[in-house]
Amino acid sequence: MARIVMKFGGTSMAGIERIRHVASLVKREVGAGNQVAVVVSAMAGETDRLVQLCREAASLYDPREYDVVVASGEQVTSGLLAITLQGMGLNARSYMGWQLPIRASGHAAALIDHIDAEILEGVFAQGGIAVIPGFQGVTAEGDLATFGRGGSDTSAVALAAAMKADRCDIYTDVDGVYTTDPRIVPRARKLEMITYEEMLELASVGAKVLQTRSVGLAMRYNMPLKVLSSFEDKPGTLIVGDDAIEDSIMERNVITGIAADKNEAMVTLTGLPDRAGTVAAIFAPLAAANINVDMIVQSVPRPGEPSTLTFTVPSASLAHTVAELDKAKEKIGFDEALSDTNVVKISAVGVGMRSNAGIAAQMFDTLADRGINIVAISTSEIKVSVLIPEEYTELAVRVLHTAYGLDAEDAA
Ligand code: ADP
Ligand code: ASP
Ligand code: MG
Repeated sequence: MARIVMKFGGTSMAGIERIRHVASLVKREVGAGNQVAVVVSAMAGETDRLVQLCREAASLYDPREYDVVVASGEQVTSGLLAITLQGMGLNARSYMGWQLPIRASGHAAALIDHIDAEILEGVFAQGGIAVIPGFQGVTAEGDLATFGRGGSDTSAVALAAAMKADRCDIYTDVDGVYTTDPRIVPRARKLEMITYEEMLELASVGAKVLQTRSVGLAMRYNMPLKVLSSFEDKPGTLIVGDDAIEDSIMERNVITGIAADKNEAMVTLTGLPDRAGTVAAIFAPLAAANINVDMIVQSVPRPGEPSTLTFTVPSASLAHTVAELDKAKEKIGFDEALSDTNVVKISAVGVGMRSNAGIAAQMFDTLADRGINIVAISTSEIKVSVLIPEEYTELAVRVLHTAYGLDAEDAA
């Protein structure tokens, strides 16, 4: 007997037919003698619709009320799945975030503080199935809180850790984690295994198959994660610690995956004074305003000459960033603040980079061969990222995928 969290995403829950199929997958696990808690997303497209309604109601909406609106999608699907399971003769019940409770702080991108899984012990002792809406928790004030887009993944992993599950299975509309988004690159190859660290980097640079926070949590609790399809009966991808991979596969590709993130905006400040404190004067107000700065490039002028600094922020923070810079214009002393949202960040990730030189150079060469201009670069121990014009997204991902030897063998 194992204790499992099964999480089903929006496409898996999109309509009664799909929910029936999900119920059959749950029934199979329970029939095998396992204790099961199910975490569900809203039906595909529903959260987008709810977010749009909030925007239409007021451009600057109250995050508390936003949470009240967007959390409703998961309430619907959890009730529907419980009804469907009951109709199959199973002992199932839904538990809203506030009923467990899943304690959280903040709104719109709330953090999970603690999950009380006590109720579930009673449910399992009676052979029951708990159906839990993803994406939502409750604040200390008793308000609804949601965990940011894609947050049901984080709900599932946090719940798995709280109930000391043996594993957390993430069912989605693809049959695992691929070397890049299989909907963009048909030659993408499914990975049998990937390390937490690599998955964390891939998710953070745009591979939306898992919310980044969920991978961080799984790594922290050493919770075995599996990504698999709710549409096809296939093995899926295991996300595990470093050692598990090194022991099982002797030779791996240096690069594990490639991701694109169109959600970046670039800001360039011109005519900056060449003196100590300029950079600090730019980034201090942005940090105070909670704006996440990602890539930074500064052109080094001849001593005394004005310089230029370029950096990226999430597109959603661009207006806020420009407003903060305007306020600090005199203190910083720049000429112009230029911005551009037609950029994309392309990243290559792999733990093999630690022991292999030349990965970044290979990326620059490959893009240069196609005439793709690189605007900014950043690197970490296991990742290289470049900022390029957005129109080259697909081309860049495809040529890098081939250059790093990631194409599926059977691809034409
Ligand atoms: P769910 O609704 O089940 O949470 P998501 O849409 O959040 O599903 O995530 C699944 C999608 O992630 C896939 O349909 C795929 O297009 C995309 N994706 C991006 N990068 C990858 C990758 N490297 N491997 C697999 N899927 C990826
Ligand atoms: N329904 C939420 C969203 O679309 C949470 C999730 O599905 O993970 O972002
Ligand atoms: Mg998702």
